[in-house]
Amino acid sequence: MHEFHDADGVLFDLDGTLVSGGKVLPWAHGLIEQSRGRFAIVTNDAEHTAVQIAALLQSLGIPVSQDRIVAAGMEALRQVSVDMPGARLLIAASRSLQDYATDLGLEVTDVEPDVVLIGRDRAFSYDKIRTLSNAVLAGAQLVVCNPDKTHPAADGSVVPETGALAASVLACTGPVPHHVIGKPQPGLFLSGMALIGSTPTRTLMVGDNPETDGKGAAGVGIRFVRVGFEHGEEDWLP
Ligand SMILES: [Mg+2]
Repeated sequence: MHEFHDADGVLFDLDGTLVSGGKVLPWAHGLIEQSRGRFAIVTNDAEHTAVQIAALLQSLGIPVSQDRIVAAGMEALRQVSVDMPGARLLIAASRSLQDYATDLGLEVTDVEPDVVLIGRDRAFSYDKIRTLSNAVLAGAQLVVCNPDKTHPAADGSVVPETGALAASVLACTGPVPHHVIGKPQPGLFLSGMALIGSTPTRTLMVGDNPETDGKGAAGVGIRFVRVGFEHGEEDWLP
C-alpha cells in the first residue's frame, strides 16, 4: 500500500480491520509494519478501556501501547469530564468504564444526574430503560457512546450494540437532543490525529466499514482505505 509513504500517520479501525472474532486478520501485521509506528487505533468499542484493549492485542501478538488507542466509551467519558467537570453521571456501561468515570472526577449516581451515558452494557434491563429514560425526561443530557445497533459475531449472528440500547431509551423519551460520540462522528478521528501529531491531509484512515470509517474520515478530510478486499482491490472513497 504505497499510500502509507505519503502519510504522517495512520488511523486503524480495530474490529474487522486488525482483528475479528478474537483472531488477528491476515493483513494486520503488514498494515502495522507499513505505518512505521505512526499510528493510532480508533474504535467504537463502548465497553473496554484502552488498557484492556491493549492487553487483548498484546495477547494476540500485536504490540500496541494503550496511549495509542482511542475507544468510544472512554472518549465519551473524557468529553463529558471536559464539558461538565465533576458532573453527576448516570451510566449504563461496563464496570471498567464506570471506574474510569470515577477516575475522571465524575460522580456516578442515579440520583438527579446531569448526564445519562449509554455504552455497551451487558447487564442492560427493563429497570435500566425506565431509570435512564426518566432521567433524560427530567433534564439530564443524553450521551451515546456509539451509534452502532449491532456488530457481527464470529458465527454470523448479531451482537446487540450501544445504539440498540440507546434506541430503547429514545423509544421511551421520544425525540430528544443527544450527543453520539463514536464513528462516523469526528471526535475519535480528531483524538487519534492528536495522538500521532498528524493533520487530516497527511493522515490515512484504514477500516472495513465505509459507513462509519469511510464517511467519518471523509467528514474530517482524511483519506480512507478499505480493507477486507482481495489483494489489489482496496477501495478508495473520496
Ligand atoms: Mg470495523
